[in-house]
Amino acid sequence: MGVRREHRRYSRPVLKTKRWQVLRQIVLERDGWACVACGQTRGRLEIDHVQPVRTRPDLAFDLANCATRCPSCHTKKTRIECGHPAPIITPERQAWGQAVADLATNPNPAT
Ligand SMILES: [Zn+2]
Repeated sequence: MGVRREHRRYSRPVLKTKRWQVLRQIVLERDGWACVACGQTRGRLEIDHVQPVRTRPDLAFDLANCATRCPSCHTKKTRIECGHPAPIITPERQAWGQAVADLATNPNPAT
């Protein structure tokens, strides 16, 4: 989960602003309160920066650079951006993917 934390370091200052709170609502309305990748409308929705803030801070408040995503699709995209694509599906990788998916549905597997 270190990947995501690293990514957040760049977007957090943006996400804290009033300007972002307003923009966020506009993006959600525009995308019909649904994940643009899988169409999910239930649960928490996040606003994704199509071009990451890390590489394009100038586009942080650009409507065209924002898309509504569910946490699962958002994490998947963020991982790829951070240099963790999944081009070769090995059993190890599949097991890891399943572990991540389990974590998304059950944040506390120990219980
Ligand atoms: Zn989704």
